[in-house]
Amino acid sequence: MKALLYPLLCLASLMQALRISAQTTEPALKITHLTGDFYVYTTYKPVNGNPFPSNSMYLVTSKGVVMFDTPWDTTQFKPLMDSIQARHNKPVVLCIATHSHDDRTAGMSFLQHNGVPTYSSKLTYELCAEHPERRPEHYFTGDTTITIGNHTFQTYYPGEGHTKDNIVIWFANEKILYGGCLVKSIENNGLGNVADANISAWAPSIKKVMKRFRKPTYVIPGHFGWSGKKALKHTLKLIKKAR
Ligand SMILES: [Zn+2]
Repeated sequence: MKALLYPLLCLASLMQALRISAQTTEPALKITHLTGDFYVYTTYKPVNGNPFPSNSMYLVTSKGVVMFDTPWDTTQFKPLMDSIQARHNKPVVLCIATHSHDDRTAGMSFLQHNGVPTYSSKLTYELCAEHPERRPEHYFTGDTTITIGNHTFQTYYPGEGHTKDNIVIWFANEKILYGGCLVKSIENNGLGNVADANISAWAPSIKKVMKRFRKPTYVIPGHFGWSGKKALKHTLKLIKKAR
């Protein structure tokens, strides 16, 4: 009996170890309900050996689901579409990219092959010229108010910052600001990837967003957590530190 017990114990401790390692690893795709019809989804890519999170959003409307940016992790395009279909039983009817970097646009071709209309600003569209696989199919010219089913939102270009083309999305009824990579999380101690940034233009751009979209209930940054409402002020602090 003892001889049999020992391998069983080994198996139990192995399973325990597996369970622990499964718990400590982030899921490849994390979908978080924000409020009402709004969801934030997060995918990861390794940066300096650690999984680095990238946030995007989707909105469930009466006419289908609108995505704001695509997964960064290219293995998560289909899992995201499948999860949206399973949770909401609605197709994705539109995707809008908020700047040309791949953490916003990696899934453009995938979406186009799946019949989803993809859009960005004209500037983003032009900047994607070198990466046709990431270029949206269509563009809008200037700030645009869009109504899909029971929801309305507006795109706003405040000027350069993280990139020369970064836009934000404002949901006026719910006072949700999707800041994308223009806005840094309060968890960030620095400005992150500034390869295409315009540091001197960034603060005026943030101030324009603050002035235009008063008292947001949620501010969603491109990376890391979104709890608290201080992300815009925090971004100003980080810009000041970097100058
Ligand atoms: Zn980014």
